[in-house]
Amino acid sequence: MSPEALRRHCTQLEERLFWLETFIEGARAGTWQWNVQTGETRFNALWAEMVGYRLEELEPVSIDTWLSLVHPDDLARSEAALQAHFSGQAAFYGCDARMRHRDGHWVWVRDYGRVVTRTPQGEPEWVSGIHIDISEHKATEARLEQALEDTRQLTRTLERAQRIGRLGYWRASLKTGELFWSDGIYDLFGVSRADFLPSVDAFKARVHPDDLAAVEACEARAHETGVFDIQHRILRPDGSVRWVHELADFEPKGDEAVLVGTVRDITEQKELELRLRELSITDELTGLYNRRYFMQRLREAHGEVRRLGRPSAVLVFDFDHFKVVNDSHGHAMGDQVLRRLGRLLSERLRRMDVPCRLGGEEFAILLPETSLEGGLRLAEDIRREVAALAFSSAQHERFHVSITCGVAVLLASDASGEEAIQRADAALYRGKHRGRNRVVAGATAATDSRE
Ligand code: GH3
Ligand code: MG
Ligand code: MG
Repeated sequence: MSPEALRRHCTQLEERLFWLETFIEGARAGTWQWNVQTGETRFNALWAEMVGYRLEELEPVSIDTWLSLVHPDDLARSEAALQAHFSGQAAFYGCDARMRHRDGHWVWVRDYGRVVTRTPQGEPEWVSGIHIDISEHKATEARLEQALEDTRQLTRTLERAQRIGRLGYWRASLKTGELFWSDGIYDLFGVSRADFLPSVDAFKARVHPDDLAAVEACEARAHETGVFDIQHRILRPDGSVRWVHELADFEPKGDEAVLVGTVRDITEQKELELRLRELSITDELTGLYNRRYFMQRLREAHGEVRRLGRPSAVLVFDFDHFKVVNDSHGHAMGDQVLRRLGRLLSERLRRMDVPCRLGGEEFAILLPETSLEGGLRLAEDIRREVAALAFSSAQHERFHVSITCGVAVLLASDASGEEAIQRADAALYRGKHRGRNRVVAGATAATDSRE
């Protein structure tokens, strides 16, 4: 080669070397060269910096420098990867390994390498490679894995909680009508995933017809309040009815109107609630309403007379000589008479009427939408029907009972509904004086005394 050609060649080599170094620096790569046969090893400055050293501090370097810094748990993997490459199984050597930083923490490096020369016998001789610091990448990976595990754990807990709490979760798009149901909801609705496709419409078709308006009103309100919270009934394919509590709110996702919520089976709780409410307003002996409930309804009726001029009548009655019934036939027989009256009233009255046992053998009936004349007619019917009842005592003695009844109407001028009761009571008292077993009209004005 001429000196001129040699110079040109050298210039080209220098140029290539220059660019090669920029690549290595740009990649922040540590480099290593290792003679497998002699153990001679070379590192660049970055290789040492990656683990907190200046290269001079590590001198003299050998393969032992690497062996002393690599994590013992990663060494076997590195060895195996190296052997795979040496034997020709792998085109390259590649392994992620930890190296101890000067400060004591571990630095994750990605180690790549390749056999560059072999001995005449074909044994690997010079091997070269690079280290890239992937600690950040590994930390992110670990955080991601942890987050994934947390999510899996949370999902398991959620599913368990849903099973225990008989809870399902759903997601509805009010715009498209699409609906997602968790497994529990299919069970609750008595349908299977195989033959039921949930949608907002399909859901509404399962809502009890009497509750549909309330569900739709709640949905409309949710657009303003952001909350969907309602208890309603659903109808299952087998005809059974379940009570559910739906609680949802809008997913913050623009104007897409996506509701995310839970549904819980509250049938038992609801039945208990209804039963308790029934008990709280019922007279135990007769099954009629109790005094407290009657008084509440009387207050409401009085409000309606005042505000809407809607007439209501009250009837108050008391058994005649009931002491005699008890004395002659026993207290249990007296109770039977009261129960029989309860049945008679329940069968006889309209749904809107409110019959109650005021106490003892004294009763009252609130008759909405009823005039004094209407009240008197009904009272007379009841009086006659009671008088027509025939009882037979334990000693097979037949006997009859009678009642005396006072009737009054609620007046807008009354301070409270109880004033009408007082007028009916006064009329009842007059009836007792006039010989019992009769119906007497109460005063029709607060000042009007019919005596
Ligand atoms: P009057 O015609 O004047 O009403 O005579 P009476 O005997 O019915 O007198 P009053 O209404 O003052 O007495 C009510 C009686 O009814 C007294 C009580 O022993 C009886 N009584 C009250 N509550 C019950 C009950 O729950 N069961 C039974 N068997 N008797 C009751
Ligand atoms: Mg009596
Ligand atoms: Mg009495």
